[in-house]
Amino acid sequence: MEPWYANGLRFGCTQCGACCSGDPGAVWVNDAEIEALAARLELTSQAFSSRYVRQLGDGRSLTEFDNGDCVFFDPATRGCRVYESRPMQCRTWPFWRSNLRHEKTWQDTAAVCPGSGQGALVPLDRIRQHLVDHDDAKRQGIEAMRAILNVEHSS
Ligand code: SF4
Repeated sequence: MEPWYANGLRFGCTQCGACCSGDPGAVWVNDAEIEALAARLELTSQAFSSRYVRQLGDGRSLTEFDNGDCVFFDPATRGCRVYESRPMQCRTWPFWRSNLRHEKTWQDTAAVCPGSGQGALVPLDRIRQHLVDHDDAKRQGIEAMRAILNVEHSS
């Protein structure tokens, strides 16, 4: 059965910065993503990790400023300082299963991400790829959080 968004969905980032700033969170990164980000900043993966990566459970996340903003969020432009090399979790936003569950959840997404529903039409095959890619990024997060919860339960 075709999903409700079979004809594609529109998205065009307005650079409001809402998804990269505000409440603390986690931006999961794997070895390949760390390598790509390090190369962009002309750092070794080790140097990059010691400056910009923190361990969360069994996983690794980018660090944040004290106010919860992503370490690569530029408050002056409201944009990402490493946009071309951003991790999969960011690359796939807002095409996450939780947002696409049905039309209402997609409309709700527009309330937190004004670029959703605006801009260029993203075709179904691209949306499907984003969903699969985000599943991988999300799996990292779930496994990492599971490790944290296990530690808490056993202590
Ligand atoms: S919330 Fe949406 S529109 Fe705003 S910066 Fe993030 S992706 Fe772009």
